[in-house]
Amino acid sequence: MVCASCGEAEYLPREYCRCGHYLRGQLEDEYCAWEEQIHSNHLELADVIALKIKPLRYLFAVSLPFLVGPMLFLNFWADSFTLYPLLWMAPGILIGGIVALAENILTRPLEASAHFLNTYSIETFIDQRFFQLKVINQ
Ligand SMILES: [Zn+2]
Repeated sequence: MVCASCGEAEYLPREYCRCGHYLRGQLEDEYCAWEEQIHSNHLELADVIALKIKPLRYLFAVSLPFLVGPMLFLNFWADSFTLYPLLWMAPGILIGGIVALAENILTRPLEASAHFLNTYSIETFIDQRFFQLKVINQ
């Protein structure tokens, strides 16, 4: 890592820089900033996804009469079983299925993000901060 005081590169496991700057403290500060960052990233992602899901909810509401209507008809008014109400239910089932599928796909990144928030540690931070950067630079 690079010392914030003298700008020299220093070994990661060292607690103090050659200039006397407390590197462990610097690392912990950076870790706290990173931690705040990933939490706010997660909230932003949740907001973005909630906005995308909202229209899906309306779409689902539109599909409900197609499902409920024929069911009521079958229960109360149909003297004998006919296929006609089932045909009416088809679009409802189709829309409901599409909404469920789309919601599943849309919330996947959020679940991945939540999983990351549940499992990260200072090692994750060090990996990302120092080792992945190295990989990208190569
Ligand atoms: Zn230094």
